[in-house]
Amino acid sequence: MLAAVLKAPGLLELDDLPDPAAPRGGALLKIKACAVCGTDIKMREKGHRDLVYPRVLGHEMVGRIVEIDASCGLAKGCLAEGDLVQIWPGIACRRCGPCLRQADNRCPDIKIMGFNCDGGFAELLALTGQSLSGGVNLLPGNVDPALAALAEPLACCINGQEQACVSKGDRVLILGGGPIGALHALLAELHGVEKIIVTERLPARIRLLKSHTNASVVDPTEESLESVLAAEMGCNGVDVILTATPAVQVDGDLLRLLSPGGRICIFSGPAPGDYQERIDLRSIHYHELTITGAYGCASRHNRSAAELLTSGMIKAHWIVTKRTSLARIEDAFSHSSQRTGLKSVVCGNL
Ligand SMILES: [Zn+2]
Ligand SMILES: [Zn+2]
Repeated sequence: MLAAVLKAPGLLELDDLPDPAAPRGGALLKIKACAVCGTDIKMREKGHRDLVYPRVLGHEMVGRIVEIDASCGLAKGCLAEGDLVQIWPGIACRRCGPCLRQADNRCPDIKIMGFNCDGGFAELLALTGQSLSGGVNLLPGNVDPALAALAEPLACCINGQEQACVSKGDRVLILGGGPIGALHALLAELHGVEKIIVTERLPARIRLLKSHTNASVVDPTEESLESVLAAEMGCNGVDVILTATPAVQVDGDLLRLLSPGGRICIFSGPAPGDYQERIDLRSIHYHELTITGAYGCASRHNRSAAELLTSGMIKAHWIVTKRTSLARIEDAFSHSSQRTGLKSVVCGNL
């Protein structure tokens, strides 16, 4: 099968690999869509904490089951050959404390497809029994696989907004209007927040956000964020800040934009060494602020995300701005890294 293999930083190659077999108790999938994540771009450029080489990248996957081990009791009756499914990329033990508390993304033994085991930028994917028993979400047969591939990044946003307790009536500031910022905006809207402000400086992204979300979009190179916040909602600040780009300074000045009781979620992964100095504990104390983080998503977040996208409760088709075949994966990576549009998806039928 054809697969995009990252062999070292900067070295992503299309290889012809032996077809994988369906593992005992597992299944074999034909990949129908696998979206390019900011993390894939980062991994190709400079590696990643959880990456092991050589690696077939890709963790935002939708595929069709072509073979399933019928002896697998859990899959029997629920999943069958021909089913279209979305995959949570984690492979967790399903027995430890975090797994039993529905936080399987915190499993100490987790493996992540596309990071430390092979992922979806390939024609075929072998799914283990662990994945089949909790990480696979059945999709309606007529859904656009590229749209459904947004379920994993949306699930990460659900996790982040859960960590930051985003709720009805909140005023939410999203730093960065790329694919993740856009999904955060749609999700915050669904949560019934009072006001969403997204910072973004690229005109194409500003246009897309303005026409498909209720967010106010601010170009921080043109106007001061403080004055926009003051004009839009008085001097009370925002309840929640979500970082959706690593190109943001998380410091006392940023924390001052939070109203008392405010929460900030460090969603976008900072570079090694960044922000490992002192933090302003006085403002955390006096204003009762919460700093939280989010990394990836649990299987239950994927389940909710797949439902939100396929039911149309979240309308995210406009976020897919590029589709390519696996053979042209370079085009997908350059569309994402040039940031002219939003999300690129490698599709199995192109
Ligand atoms: Zn991702
Ligand atoms: Zn576990």
